[in-house]
Amino acid sequence: MIHIYCGNGKGKTTAAAGLAVRMAGHKKQLLFVQFLKGSYTGEIDILERLNGITVTRCDKEYGFFSSLTPQDKNNLIKCHNNNLDYVINNMNHFDMIVLDEIFAAYNYQLADKEKIKYITETYKGELVLTGREPNKWFMEKADYISEIKKIKHPFDIGIGAREGIEY
Ligand code: ATP
Ligand code: MG
Repeated sequence: MIHIYCGNGKGKTTAAAGLAVRMAGHKKQLLFVQFLKGSYTGEIDILERLNGITVTRCDKEYGFFSSLTPQDKNNLIKCHNNNLDYVINNMNHFDMIVLDEIFAAYNYQLADKEKIKYITETYKGELVLTGREPNKWFMEKADYISEIKKIKHPFDIGIGAREGIEY
């Protein structure tokens, strides 16, 4: 089935990581792919240590997409497309695939849209997609859609990202 975690509140990536942990607890094989974010986040090393979970991401921090140089942008697109090719070529080995922040990659043209659609249409396992604003096409294909709505977030009163909470 296809799962979407979307919306402007906090909890999309952590929900996907929680689902991955639950699935791994049943001795399943998982692939957790992160798009856009290259800086260290606390879940990455821990997920990698769990039996059955493979984590893939672009290891360079490219920063916010709007401040990317054209060269950084091309490198990021190349890296994203390589990761999508890896998914396409290996998807049958996994019971669950998480494409974290895939909607940002899709909406901002930072990955090949056809590859993302191909995975969504052909993968037979549990596909988990996250990002603030899913395109209608994905919402129509999804079986679960959970929208996390921000009521309050400390960022709004000037509190920055905190270790262990935001990253
Ligand atoms: P988390 O990784 O904590 O589950 P998320 O995946 O829902 O959050 P993203 O949209 O990926 O959130 O945002 C990346 C970062 O911005 C995270 O550190 C997240 O906690 C934080 N964040 C989430 N929602 C907001 C918001 N409304 N305003 C400011 N920062 C936010
Ligand atoms: Mg996230």
